[in-house]
Amino acid sequence: MLRNTVCALATPPGEGGIAVVRLSGSDAYSIAEKVFLPLHKNKKVADAKGYTALFGHFVLNGAEMDETVALFYRAPHSYTGEDVIELSVHGGSVMADALIEALLAAGAAPAGPGEFTRRALENGRMSLTQAEAVMEIISAGGRQGAALAKSALDGRLAAETEEIKQSLRGLAAHLTAWVDYPEEDVPELAPEELRRTLSQAKEKLDLWLKNYGAGAVLRRGVDCVLLGRPNVGKSTLLNLLAGFDRAIVTPVAGTTRDVVEQAVLLGDTGIRLNLFDTAGVRSEEETDDAIEAEGIRRSWKKLEEAGLVLAVFDAGQPVTAADVALAKRCQGRPALAIFNKQDLAAEDTAFDETLLLPYFKSSVRLCAKDAASLKPLCDAVAALLGTARLDPGAAALVNARQFAAASAARDAVGEAIRAVDTGFGLDAAGVCIEDALHALADLTGEDATEAVIDQVFETFCVGK
Ligand code: GDP
Ligand code: ZN
Repeated sequence: MLRNTVCALATPPGEGGIAVVRLSGSDAYSIAEKVFLPLHKNKKVADAKGYTALFGHFVLNGAEMDETVALFYRAPHSYTGEDVIELSVHGGSVMADALIEALLAAGAAPAGPGEFTRRALENGRMSLTQAEAVMEIISAGGRQGAALAKSALDGRLAAETEEIKQSLRGLAAHLTAWVDYPEEDVPELAPEELRRTLSQAKEKLDLWLKNYGAGAVLRRGVDCVLLGRPNVGKSTLLNLLAGFDRAIVTPVAGTTRDVVEQAVLLGDTGIRLNLFDTAGVRSEEETDDAIEAEGIRRSWKKLEEAGLVLAVFDAGQPVTAADVALAKRCQGRPALAIFNKQDLAAEDTAFDETLLLPYFKSSVRLCAKDAASLKPLCDAVAALLGTARLDPGAAALVNARQFAAASAARDAVGEAIRAVDTGFGLDAAGVCIEDALHALADLTGEDATEAVIDQVFETFCVGK
C-alpha cells in the first residue's frame, strides 16, 4: 500500500495565474512545516486546523522563495482522506518546480498518475465509479458531458447500483433459505413478486445501457461525416454548422475534393461534432480522376466509422441512382437524411423522398443556405443520438469497463427472469441472481482486483 507522503502539481503545467501543489499523507504537516513559513511568527503550521489557510512563503535550500498560500485539510476530511495541504504559488513552472523540489528534499515522494484519487478510493472516500467520474470530468468535451460525469461523482451510479443489489440480495437470501431448508417454514416467494423485482432491476440496467452511447456523445463528442452527391449542399451545410465559411462552396460539381475536419458545438444541444466534409460520392467508376476516386473511397470508409452520418440530398432534383446507393449504405447506421434545397422543391417536383426514407432512422427537410435551418437540424440530431432524452442528473455509466459490468448484470438478471418464466426452478434463478450480484460488485469496484484498479488509474494524469 502507498503510505508515504506524496506531492505533485495539481494545476495544469505551463503558464497561469497560480500553480497549486498538493501534498498528501501522514507526514504532510511535518513536511510542510520545513518548507512553508507563515508570515505571522505566532502562527504555526502544526496548529493549523482543517479548512483554514495561512499566508507566507516557501523556502528552498534556506532561501526565501515565492509568496505562498497554504490550505489545510485534516484527515479524514480531505480529498484523499489523509492530511492534505495545498500550496498555491505564482503560476508558470519555475516556482512550482522549486516548491516541489523543496517538498521532495523535506521528505515527500513524487505522486504517481492518479495517486491522490487512488488514495481517496483506498481510504473509502469514493467508489471506483466515482474515481472514474473524476477522470471523465477532467476530460469532458462539453458542459452537458461534464454534468453527466458530475452526477457520477456525486455517487448516483454507486447509490442506484446499491439499491439494485439490495433488492437482488433480498431475493437471493429468500431463495437460498427456501432451497436449502424446504422443510423449514420459509414463506414461499410468490413468482409474481420474484418476477417483478427482477424486472425492475432489469429495466434500470437496460436504461443505463441504452443511455450509454448518448452519454458518451455528450462527454466525448461524435465523429460526423457529411455525404452526398456533388453539389447537393454539403459544404453549405458544414458552413451552417460551423457558423462561418470553412469549406469552399462553389456551384461547380466536385469542388470539395478532400475531407475537411472541423469541430463545432451543435447549437445548444451540448454535442460536439467533429465534422468531416467529403468529396461528393459519385461511384468510383463514374470518375476517371484518380484523386477524386481516392476521395470517394475515403468517404465510404468515413461512413462506416462515423458516429453520425449526415446524408445530404438535393430536393430540387429527381432522386438519382447515386442517391439511392448512398441511402442503402446508410441503412442500419446512425444516419440522418437531409433533404436540402427545400426552397427549390416545387409542388410538382420530381424528387421522391419515399425512395430514400426506408433506409434511414430519421430525416429532416431544410434549406442549408438559411440560418433558420440550424434549429431543426440540431433537434433532429439530438433526437437521433438520444442526447435529448438524457437527464443530466441521472446515474450514468461513464466508461467501457462500467458498460461491460452493467451488461453482464443485465444479462444475468434476464437469465433469472427466463428461469422463472420457463419454470426452470428457483435454484436456477438463484444462481443467475448471484451472477448478477457479482457483476454489480464489479461495477462499483467492491471486488475489484489490484489489476483492474491499476488499469483504471493508468489513464489518470499526475496531480489528480
Ligand atoms: P457540395 O458539393 O455538396 O458541397 O455543395 P455546395 O455546398 O458546394 O453547394 C452547391 C451549390 O448549391 C452552391 O451554389 C450552394 O450555394 C447551393 N445550395 C446549397 N444549399 C442550398 C439551398 O438550400 N438552396 C439553394 N437554393 N441552393 C443551395
Ligand atoms: Zn462541398
